Amino acid sequence: MKAEIIAVGTELLLGQIVNTNAQVISQRLAELGIDVYFQTVVGDNQTRLLQAIEIGRSRADLLVFTGGLGPTQDDLTKDALADFLNRKLLIHEPSMAEIERVFSSRGMDMVDSNRRQALMIEGCQPLENTTGLAVGNALKVDGTLYILLPGPPKEMKPMLEGSGQTWIRSMLGDEKPLFSRLLKFAGIGESNLEAKLIDMIEGQSDPTIAPYAKVGEVSIRVSTKASTIEEADRKIDLTVEAIKKRIGDHLYAQEDIPIEVEIISMLRASRRRLASAESCSGGLLAELITNVPGSSGEFVGGVVTYTNMMKNRLLNIPMSQLEGEGAPGAISESTAALMAESVRDLSDADFGVSLTGVAGPAESEGKQVGLVYFAIAERGKETVVHTTHLSGGRDMIRLRAVKAALYRLWQALRE
Ligand code: ATP
Ligand code: MG
Repeated sequence: MKAEIIAVGTELLLGQIVNTNAQVISQRLAELGIDVYFQTVVGDNQTRLLQAIEIGRSRADLLVFTGGLGPTQDDLTKDALADFLNRKLLIHEPSMAEIERVFSSRGMDMVDSNRRQALMIEGCQPLENTTGLAVGNALKVDGTLYILLPGPPKEMKPMLEGSGQTWIRSMLGDEKPLFSRLLKFAGIGESNLEAKLIDMIEGQSDPTIAPYAKVGEVSIRVSTKASTIEEADRKIDLTVEAIKKRIGDHLYAQEDIPIEVEIISMLRASRRRLASAESCSGGLLAELITNVPGSSGEFVGGVVTYTNMMKNRLLNIPMSQLEGEGAPGAISESTAALMAESVRDLSDADFGVSLTGVAGPAESEGKQVGLVYFAIAERGKETVVHTTHLSGGRDMIRLRAVKAALYRLWQALRE
């Protein structure tokens, strides 16, 4: 099945908003095994919308529209498609009732245009809007599938992922739907991961294995076509086991979550708490950890001790450790260890994590850019210091360093 996405909106053409919906729709269709061949953007103009529909129908089996389902005069998608298909626009009564209910509960007067959001093309399947008022439409006419989604991403996404995907799956006919699972890895680069799996990647047929990389993390999507989710799970499990045998030490999740989310749940499960002391990363580790909702139960807090004075005053690191003839210096294994132990003890946490290094662009203490030490100090265990030589610009080095520290923390938690 070949698909085309038609995003409707003059704002998109003017560059006032970015077409993020096209990205999300493409991703969801890929997960269903549907190939997107074209992404079109067209303004709020009936004539050009009709042209886009005509062209789309000639080269795709599935046209996914987003935008222009709202109440105003420039919201034309349903009108244009109804016109094109020579079908009437009807009122979808449950949506109309909901619109009336919302207006009366807010004590607002309804105008005629508000009713437009309840319109549906004759013969379509209405798609419920759980986060807004405009009802979506899905219909098959002369072998072509049309699906109309709202423009606001917070309405489009749930509709697509809910009734939209269900409808598309049901239209795939005999073609078995695609199921996939995302595997998330840390502490390993994309090329290294690929090298370890190269024969599996090259020899793959079913399930398929596709690696993706972001800074500090790599993912693999394992996909297979199957009649049921149980059948898909059985096939995917076997592939995952084979992957685990080779790089299981790096596999931290089988869903799309960052490693810090996994770390927080491991801390929670073992009733342990974490504190951080950061220098070169300027609080980025604390930022990532506190991005996880509810992390206050596991993360007691962190300090950014950028200067030697602050390392001394807040963490009690002796000045003789940090500077002067023969001192190890702020950027050293032993300082990293002291920082992690000190923040752990000061906060009564179970784990202290520290980072100290050179994010660049200039050298520091005569140490080269990209050299970062980080330490994991676990109560009752010997503190472990890791040394990394990272490449990239300042932001990249910081993010890579923090991700590397999180990976080691995850490992320590696993033990
Ligand atoms: P509304 O009821 O809000 O009018 P609508 O279905 O008519 O919804 P539009 O009027 O086309 O949709 O767009 C409404 C808003 O949704 C836009 O101002 C924009 O913020 C967002 N939006 C629309 N299309 C896209 C898109 N392709 N990608 C990302 N955001 C979009
Ligand atoms: Mg609109």
